[in-house]
Amino acid sequence: MKRILTIIWLIMIALGSTAQVIRIGLYHNEVVESVAVYATSGEYEIKAGDRRIGTFRKGDILFATLKEGMISLHDAGGVYGTFKSVELSALSLDATFRLRPVAPALESQSYDDGLLLEGNDAYMTIINQVDFDRYIAGVLEAEVGPNAQRELYKAHALLTRTYMLNHFDRHRDEGFSLCDGVHCQAYHGRAQYNPEIAEAVFETSGEVVADYHYKLITAAYHANSGGETQRASDVWLKDVDYLQAVLDPYSLHQPAAKWYDTIQYAAWKDYLVGRGMASAKKVPEELLYIQQRHRSKYFVLDGDTLMMTRIREDWGWRSSFFNMFPEEGGKIVVWGKGYGHGVGLSQEGAMNMASQDFSYKDIIKFYFFNIRIMYYDDLPDSSLPDLGYE
Ligand SMILES: [Zn+2]
Repeated sequence: MKRILTIIWLIMIALGSTAQVIRIGLYHNEVVESVAVYATSGEYEIKAGDRRIGTFRKGDILFATLKEGMISLHDAGGVYGTFKSVELSALSLDATFRLRPVAPALESQSYDDGLLLEGNDAYMTIINQVDFDRYIAGVLEAEVGPNAQRELYKAHALLTRTYMLNHFDRHRDEGFSLCDGVHCQAYHGRAQYNPEIAEAVFETSGEVVADYHYKLITAAYHANSGGETQRASDVWLKDVDYLQAVLDPYSLHQPAAKWYDTIQYAAWKDYLVGRGMASAKKVPEELLYIQQRHRSKYFVLDGDTLMMTRIREDWGWRSSFFNMFPEEGGKIVVWGKGYGHGVGLSQEGAMNMASQDFSYKDIIKFYFFNIRIMYYDDLPDSSLPDLGYE
């Protein structure tokens, strides 16, 4: 299986005319001082600055340790030296490595393509220099998991690629484009559990989602819309023409379609007063029960307003789409719908559409209004970031 996957990748890269590379900051939330690197396939050359200092092949292990802001590099045979930066540059298309932080001791992960280590005063910057599509496949495995349908992977590949290009400069001053945490997009290294992910990424290679004005879209998604997506302006206070409310039957009857909670009426009333709704003290009780037939932006009480997203956050609820009912014993039952902010694509709805044989383009066009699915190469220069590195 592994061999077949490798062959697929080689064919993909041979066919792809312009394989482009992105730099991803690894273990970004950790202060790493020392790592071990294992060559797991293919061949690399080891470079310090522009100088070639050795080769690194399957079975080899390298150790890199931070020393006074520099990288000290050694292997079983001895010490290479101490350098400002060290690069493992892939000489073959099947080159992969496994990286294990030693100080602190963290779980190892496997990566495609190249590695760059840079010394800083207190930590080492660890960068995976990886082909765009291999990175996207890794993100899909981390964010969608290994068991989804092909058309869902394709739809998600477009969103991930669009997000990647839209945020290419996010960590530029740290020497890379995106980090591997949820701050950017979760990336736990190479996709390795389902070859369909790589195939889906390849089949949509280069495709992104642009708005009517040929700008990359804000590729928002969430777990489940609860039956209706939320207008962007209801959450982020900025209207985005392609992020409007959509009636979404595909999200109903899915695992995260519903939730519920029980709270105390007195606590709810105190909360409203505490949030500036003084009239909660004097209006009839039934006016305090929130009812949403469709998603609302505000809860309005006697001229005072409170954002639904604020309420969701304060109470730690799964969504801001819910109804309240009085219950015996001074309680309120809260019946909620969906999971997440509700803007853009609903993952469970998209999954349901994919299982009903909708295509990835149908899925994206269902959740985003007036968008264009196109190759990023065809976008005007003003819509793209600088995709090179110094
Ligand atoms: Zn980030």
